[in-house]
Order: sequence, then structure tokens, then C-alpha cells
Amino acid sequence: MQLDSKVPSGPLQDKWDNHRFAMKLVNPSNKRKYNILVVGSGLAGASAAASLAELGYKVTCFAFQDSPRRAHSIAAQGGINASKNYPNDGDSVWRLFYDTVKGGDFRSREANVYRLAQVSANIIDQAVAQGVPFAREYGGLLSNRSFGGAQVSRTFYAQGATGQQLLLGAYSALNRQIGAGAVKMVNRCELQDIVLVDGQARGIVTRDLITGKLESWSGDAVVLATGGYANVFFLSTNAMGCNVTAAYKAHKRGAGFANPSFTQIHPTCIPVSGDYQSKLTLMSESLRNDGRVWVPKKAGDARKVADIPESERDYFLERKYPSFGNLVPRDVASRNAKMVCDEGRGVGESGLAVYLDFRDAIQRLGKDAVAARYGNLFHMYHKITAEDPFETPMRIYPAPHYAMGGLWVDYNLMSTIPGLHVIGEANFSDHGANRLGASALMQGLADGYFVLPYTIGNYLATASLPKVETTHASFQAAEREVADRFSKLLGVNGKQTVDSFHRRLGRIMWDNCGLGRTAEGLQSALEQIPKLREEFWADVRVPGTEAGLNQPLERAARVADFLEFAEMVCWDALEREESCGCHLREEHRTPEGEALRNDKDYSHVSVWEYKGVGEKPVHHKEPLAFENVKLSTRSYK
Ligand SMILES: Cc1cc2nc3c(=O)[nH]c(=O)nc-3n(C[C@H](O)[C@H](O)[C@H](O)COP(=O)(O)OP(=O)(O)OC[C@H]3O[C@@H](n4cnc5c(N)ncnc54)[C@H](O)[C@@H]3O)c2cc1C
Repeated sequence: MQLDSKVPSGPLQDKWDNHRFAMKLVNPSNKRKYNILVVGSGLAGASAAASLAELGYKVTCFAFQDSPRRAHSIAAQGGINASKNYPNDGDSVWRLFYDTVKGGDFRSREANVYRLAQVSANIIDQAVAQGVPFAREYGGLLSNRSFGGAQVSRTFYAQGATGQQLLLGAYSALNRQIGAGAVKMVNRCELQDIVLVDGQARGIVTRDLITGKLESWSGDAVVLATGGYANVFFLSTNAMGCNVTAAYKAHKRGAGFANPSFTQIHPTCIPVSGDYQSKLTLMSESLRNDGRVWVPKKAGDARKVADIPESERDYFLERKYPSFGNLVPRDVASRNAKMVCDEGRGVGESGLAVYLDFRDAIQRLGKDAVAARYGNLFHMYHKITAEDPFETPMRIYPAPHYAMGGLWVDYNLMSTIPGLHVIGEANFSDHGANRLGASALMQGLADGYFVLPYTIGNYLATASLPKVETTHASFQAAEREVADRFSKLLGVNGKQTVDSFHRRLGRIMWDNCGLGRTAEGLQSALEQIPKLREEFWADVRVPGTEAGLNQPLERAARVADFLEFAEMVCWDALEREESCGCHLREEHRTPEGEALRNDKDYSHVSVWEYKGVGEKPVHHKEPLAFENVKLSTRSYK
């Protein structure tokens, strides 16, 4: 496997401009001759499909939901970053770039991150032009708030529903193209395989979720915008449908998978409350602008909140990290929450929670101002826990949330398979070992609106792309393989439900490859996962038939992929003998419990090549060069 990052030469700030000029263009009247398959219609997919169609390409866009508006991006709450510097508090492209590289614990590619910071301001203009109702100041200017890992306010937001509003913007752009006949939208349709012809990605095989029909689609390039895989942990903040299938199928066809163990555990989620749960709920990081995180100073203190005097409360983030306080990055906040709970100072029935308290903010700003900022989040919390955050602090605990890992892509967002481009959360590109809050929306929309529309043109203009029909033998073979897999799932006819396997896999992953990881735990996971996978194929019960709507069958296919993918996540975590960002190897920490990086041996992207089910994938490395930021120990003190 060749890993050529294709990062252009020259000064960092000129790379993207020079690259755009050097790239070949497709003549406007030739664009309609190219058919691009975009899989996914969340923020990344919808923005890409709309932009490519606007440019004149023929686009077919796929999603498994019944409308692009239901893509998981709709769940995004707190905001989107951009280096507009509206508050005049010292922000710049360089600062956003620096914060993001540092926030990712120096495990991302400088050139990609700088480009992200450069185009971030355009995204806000684009969204405003579409009518996205960002919060505004009294005078009409767009309002900003802060997110973790930054000392400036650069986060644009629409109360606690920023993803929904941005998605409505991208969806309206997409809909315009659907109406104009430039995009064919295929809903309720799930990718099951990628088809390669002469080594290039030339199509996909899908399953219609309503009829069960398998179908092949050919194109000149394939774009995966299929989101993240945090549901490998079963309990996560992701929508129930989020899965790894598309990315993993691409991996099986030869696409390198980068840093799969870099999974973000978000500090502020409603804690697990019982075995019956299948989903966890995020409380946006934006709440840490005004909420104060604390636990009782004394272990085992079971007193009610009102009975714990101020002097007996430990605002541990403010105490340990006075510069950033409650707004330290997510990995730091999550790790510290776990540490105080491990000391027996956690609150609530399980002892696995810390307080997020708005008392002081309400006193300072008034209830109305707090409600205006976070009203929908408070309402959601109240509905789920029956406790009113205006009256009593929220209880929160870390939970799986986001995948920094994903399919490896070069600077042009192309995977190791020529023609297969990957955007949004599905790629690994910009966040290193830890994503800063409000930067996933920024990256997905940067990829879709402002990067891919340029780079895919260069691919189409320079690649040899003879016409390929779905009658080609590669499509027939892929369709047969997909059909066989579904028949096999239905044929097991065992006793245990799909969800019971997913739950057990999630437990293995959370216990051994979650917030803290050890070589021993990871080796144990690597023994348990193949056994669970074997049991799945021997005893899973998938009712119904292939024809027609069959949700257990859909889920079974996704869980079957998670059961293979999880092993790669653990191999990756085991190989990385250092702590960086979200990846805390218990063996590698400073005496204060902070992550201890090993830049000498691990300043690289780990990229895995598929070798067969149950076989250890082959490990490749893309070395990371830091020419513009100095590698340093991350400090938020
Ligand atoms: C609760 C929550 C809150 C968040 N809040 C924020 C925030 O405030 N700010 C921020 O920056 N980030 C936030 N994030 C992260 C951010 O929302 C996501 O990273 C981002 O929206 C992902 O966008 P995407 O387009 O890459 O993928 P998604 O929105 O997940 O879209 C994936 C698309 O792919 C399709 N798809 C997937 N697999 C297949 C398949 N096999 N076949 C066909 N179609 C397929 C789906 O149908 C969907 O259309 C939040 C995440 C969560 C979970």
C-alpha cells in the first residue's frame, strides 16, 4: 500500500492556493459527462452533492434514512468554528490552525488543518447566504461562544440545534439540484459494497431497505460521506443507525484505514442509567461556557447538593487547569471525570457522574439569559432525567461520541483506492488524536463545499475513465457476494438477538478500549472479539426474509461488520505504545496522570491494510512532519 499524502510543497499559507492553480480543470460543458456517486447526505454528503451538481456534474446521492434531513448531522448541538474573529479577541487562521493541531495532540497533518482553518470563514458566509439562523447579538452581528481547547470565542451557533440548522441549509442547496434534475436522490438505500474496475472505484452495490432489492450503480468516481463509527461501543451519543459498513467495505476492497483507535469519549453526556438503554444523550460542550464541573471533596459523600457547602466542593477542572478551566479539551475533561470517579468521588446512584452546575451562571446572567443560550438542552435533560437543571446541577459522564479515525485520505481527500474519495467524519483527516468541539461541522462542510469540488475535478480530468456498465463482471461478482452474505445471516436461525451481540461487543470495547487502555486489556479484547464473532455467526437470530423491510436484517449486517472492525480498532490501540489525545494508555502517563506522548516513535498516522477476517491487518505509517508548530507537551494549565 502506497501512502502518498500529496501535500503540495511551498509555504503553508500558500499550499492550497498554489494547489488549486496547479490542478487540472474539467471544462464546464464536459462536467455533465461525469457521473459521481455520493454516498451519504449528512452535512458532508449534502454539501458535496449540491456543490458538485451546481458545478455541472451528474450526481447520484444515497442515504439510508428516508430523507437527507434525517442524517445524523441533525443531532449536532453546540456550534461550528470559524476564524472570523468577530469578537476581536485575537483569533486568526493561524490561531485556529494552531489550536486544532495542538488540540489533536500533534497527530494530524499540518497542511490539511491549515486549509481547514483557511476555508472556515467561507463556510459561515455560505450558511448565512442560505438563511441558516445563527444566533446574533443585539446589534445584528453573528454571536460567538467558546468551545474547549480555545481561549477565543469562535463558535457560531443556532441555540443548541446548530447541526439541524446547517443541515437545513445544505439540504435546501441539495434540494434545488434535485429539483433541477442534476442530483438523483436515492433514499432508504444502503451501500453494501464498493466495486473496483481496473483498480479504480467505479461503482457501488446497494440494498433497497424497503424492497430488499440489490442494485448496482456505476460512476466515474465514488464519494463516501457516511459518517462515524462510535456505535462500535453500542452505547454512544450517535444515532442508532450510524455504522461502519461503508467505510469497512471500502477497507476490505483495499482502502487503508487510519488511526481506528482514535475514538472520542465526550465528557458531558447523560450517564448510563440501566441495562435497558440502547442510546446515550449528549449535553453539548457549549454548556461548559457557563456550567461549572465539580464533585464533593470527600470520597463517598452522599449528601444532597444543597447540603454540600462551597468549601467542600472540588471544581477540579478549574483547580487543575486555571487557564482553560471548564473549557479544557474533551480528552482532558473526560479523563479527569473518570479519575475523580475512580477516587470514589463520583455522584449519583452509580457513582459514575460529576456535576455540571449552572447556579452561578443563573445568578450572574439571570434565568432568561441562560434559557436563551441553552434552553433546548435544559429541556432535553429535564425530559430524560426528570431533574430541572435550573434547580439542580446536571449529572454528566463521558460517553463514546466521535471517530477521529477513518479511511485514510491524501490532501485531495482521495483514499488509497483511486477514485474513492472520503469526506466528513468518515475520513481521518484533520483532528489527530482528539477533535476539538465544533470542528466536525467545520470539517464536514469544508470538505463538501470547498475542498472536494476542486480536488475531484483534478482526478476526473487526469484519470483514464473508460465507460463502465453495471453488466461488468466486477458488479455481478460483488452483487453475488452481497446476496450470499444476507442469505447467510438469515440462514443462521439461532437464538440470540442482533442487539444482544452488539451490546456485548460494546461492553468489550468500552472496558478494554474505552477511556483508558492497557496492553493486557487490549489483548483480552482481541481474544474475546473473534469468539463473539464466531458465536454471532452460529447463533444469531434474524427473523423475516430478504425481500421487503427487515430492520433486524439491516442491523445484523451492520453488527457483522462491527464485529470484524472492532478487532482492527484494538490492534491499532495496542500498537500505539504512547498516550496521545483520546488514546490514554495507562502504562504511559506522567506522575500527575496526564497523557505521555512519544513523539520519537509515534509521530505518524497508523494506516491498516486488510488481510482477511480475523487476520491481523498490515500496519503502514505515514510520518507526520511539524514544520510550522513546535511539538510540545500539551498544557492547558
Ligand atoms: C449528539 C451530537 C452532537 C454533536 N454536536 C456537534 C457540534 O455541536 N459541533 C460539531 O462540530 N460537531 C458535532 N457533532 C459531530 C458532528 O455532528 C458529526 O461529526 C457530523 O455531523 C458528521 O457529518 P457527516 O456528514 O460526516 O455524517 P452523517 O451526518 O452521519 O451522515 C452520514 C450519511 O451517510 C449515510 N450513510 C451511512 N452509511 C451508509 C450506507 N452504508 N449506505 C448509504 N448511506 C449511508 C447516512 O444515511 C447519512 O446520510 C455532534 C455529534 C453528536 C453525536
